[in-house]
Amino acid sequence: MWDKVYKEIDQLYNRMVDDRRYLHQHPELSFEEKETAKYISKRYDELGIPYKDNIGGYGIVARIEGGKPGKTVALRADFDALPIQEENDVPYKSKVDGVMHACGHDGHTASLLAVAEAILPFKDELQGTMVFLHQPAEEYAPGGAKPMIDEGALEGVDAVFGTHLWATSPLHTMETRSGPFMGGADRFEIIFKGKGGHGAMPHQTKDPVMMAGQAIVELQQVVSRRLDPLQSAVLTIGVIEAGEAFNVIPDTARLQGTVRYLDKDVQDQVIDEMGKIIKGIAESYDADYDFDYVKGYPPVINHESETNYYLNEGTIIPGIKEVNEVPPVMGGEDFAYYLEERPGTFFFTGAQIEGHDYPHHHPKFDINEEALPIAAKALLHGYRKYQEDHS
Ligand code: MN
Repeated sequence: MWDKVYKEIDQLYNRMVDDRRYLHQHPELSFEEKETAKYISKRYDELGIPYKDNIGGYGIVARIEGGKPGKTVALRADFDALPIQEENDVPYKSKVDGVMHACGHDGHTASLLAVAEAILPFKDELQGTMVFLHQPAEEYAPGGAKPMIDEGALEGVDAVFGTHLWATSPLHTMETRSGPFMGGADRFEIIFKGKGGHGAMPHQTKDPVMMAGQAIVELQQVVSRRLDPLQSAVLTIGVIEAGEAFNVIPDTARLQGTVRYLDKDVQDQVIDEMGKIIKGIAESYDADYDFDYVKGYPPVINHESETNYYLNEGTIIPGIKEVNEVPPVMGGEDFAYYLEERPGTFFFTGAQIEGHDYPHHHPKFDINEEALPIAAKALLHGYRKYQEDHS
């Protein structure tokens, strides 16, 4: 049956490209993907596949119950776009000013729709139940995965698989790893509340610019001097804001940044150490401060046996020549929440366009559409292997 399903996927190539290009031209930002959700529901209506919509926002959960007993396995595709002005000169360029599918979620959606369409004719032969999770708002924490799960998207689901088209990895390759695969992604804001005054009389002030400067330097000690060197974390400050005049010491200084980590104990330690450093600096100036730390997506922790379906047997997927076991990447993904609830794995499907090598979230980002059927087959592989493994 599977060879026939793969052939069906190949025959749906133009359909996939059409879906992807339509979505690419009509991108919607996280939490605003009303029309995208409508487009997806319409496709399920046309196919006569039952689904529930408005799950945890604009989420859609469709399902195909196979004729043979088996496990219930979910496949996930996210569908939101980014606040980026597209700079590609292509016929399918975004028609929405300042909004772009610059992460390939248009392709994820097209691939998953093709999976549903391709498996449908083989429904009676299918072992188990296939669940399609079309998820909004991956790009913006708190994200769409958590609310979908809270509203029951994983009810009855035994395992879950997801892929990300990866524009910087060659076509016909795949990347994943067991254990931590993508980083937890948090953000923080620190405001030092000093006392402003004349730039020539600093002794009469509590200079928040100095406090911010010390914090920027000292916070780097969290990773370099306070964490176990064999643990990993990133602490980056991306925003510094203080003052408006060259000869005035302002009242406040504001820093914003991100923390990335692979292990929750490390996250706890980073928060704790940051708090001590910030408090110590403010106290030494007899000043006040606010430290607002917002936990974002947890790390994506891949489960070993489901990851091995790819690491050990991924090259049986038509179109995959190479599966690479890679070190973790510190980018965040709310697929993490599914893997906290159920076994499964997340992997990258190579989607590079030769000679057009722009990373995700770049205004010239694009994916190789030849990766769409490969991603579809790769998702099916997870489903297939999980059924074989549990029957
Ligand atoms: Mn993405």
